[in-house]
Amino acid sequence: MERCTKAIIYKENLKFNIEQIKKYVKTDVKICIAVKADSYGHNAVLTSKLAEELGIDFVAVATVEEGAELRQNGIKTDILLLSLCTPEEMPSLFEYNITPLVFSKEYIKLISDIADAFYSPATCIKTDKCDSRFPVHLAVDTGMGRIGCYPDEAGIQAKMIDSSKHLKLGGMTTHFAVSDSLKEDNKKYTAQQYDEFTKAVNNVCDMGLEPGIRSCSASAALLNDERMHFDMVRPGIITYGYYPDEITEKYLSSIGKKIEIKPVLSFETKVVAIRRIAKGKSVSYGRTWQAQNDTDIAVLPVGYADGLLRRFSPGLQVTINGKNYPVIGRICMDQCMVDIGKDNKDVKLWDRVVIFGPKECGALNTADDLAKIGDTISYEVLTSLSKRVKREIK
Ligand SMILES: *Cc1c(COP(=O)(O)O)cnc(C)c1O
Repeated sequence: MERCTKAIIYKENLKFNIEQIKKYVKTDVKICIAVKADSYGHNAVLTSKLAEELGIDFVAVATVEEGAELRQNGIKTDILLLSLCTPEEMPSLFEYNITPLVFSKEYIKLISDIADAFYSPATCIKTDKCDSRFPVHLAVDTGMGRIGCYPDEAGIQAKMIDSSKHLKLGGMTTHFAVSDSLKEDNKKYTAQQYDEFTKAVNNVCDMGLEPGIRSCSASAALLNDERMHFDMVRPGIITYGYYPDEITEKYLSSIGKKIEIKPVLSFETKVVAIRRIAKGKSVSYGRTWQAQNDTDIAVLPVGYADGLLRRFSPGLQVTINGKNYPVIGRICMDQCMVDIGKDNKDVKLWDRVVIFGPKECGALNTADDLAKIGDTISYEVLTSLSKRVKREIK
């Protein structure tokens, strides 16, 4: 038994995108693919396995649990934890070999103490790692206002890490706030963040310490500015076939750059009923839509509990046999309705409906189209697909 509302992950497209990213950056630049939130809904184990096969250096998760799941599924690649965790979770960092971002005296002290406990003689017998030093990456806040120390604190905090018995500075990282924008003031802000990061790195070097793997670029800066690649780039969204906001294919070609990427996931369902709606009758909750003339509607077994956000209607179109039709009235929790027009011979019961996806699978719409309608970004459209939507790998 299989539900017709499902997401299909096109493995070849995922592989293709990773290969394109590899081609785009110089060979001595490491790549860390963001596989957080189950690879933006695309299956983190699959993505990480492919990444590993293709020689990618790191994958990045948001939670310790996500990292542990990858290890339990045999992933050997280095794993970077992009968000903070609580003291209760910290022992698992060592158990599963997950590289955390750290900053602040308290956090570094905590992790350092837990490292000491992990590498205590009692556990050493099992792990044979008594003298090991565990790499952590120092997070620097250069203007995102989220996590990280300020650039002028970087030296001292790096020193703290270095003085700890079982930790070492494996890298330094920062994150941009507006690198996906082409507005002049935003470009200036990103350049400033870059300068602040450079200052933080110099601050660490001045202490006589090696900064390790320096990284600051998510997809947008990766695509836009090679200068920002440093030792490692951290692409997420382009792995899954979408450009970050204004850093589009068209813009890139205007500055003489080219990368071809393909959407990886298609979101599909089927027509489960076709019904006549007489002129003047309404469809769905709130009666926001009324038939101007007699028409036929197709009922689809997909709704906002699947991730088809309520705010996509009105505006959303879905593709049936190569043509777009509008979703009408409110999207319900588990169902929605499409106006296919009266006596439409092109739409039959049980026909396949593609909500968004790659062109090759018959989709006319992408996650970007849905994002525009819902006043959001492809990231949110993709990560909204819920657990109820089974992922089929093709
Ligand atoms: C999510 C994330 C990335 C990847 O971002 P994309 O815009 O999807 O490429 C990189 N770095 C950090 C710190 C992140 O949180």
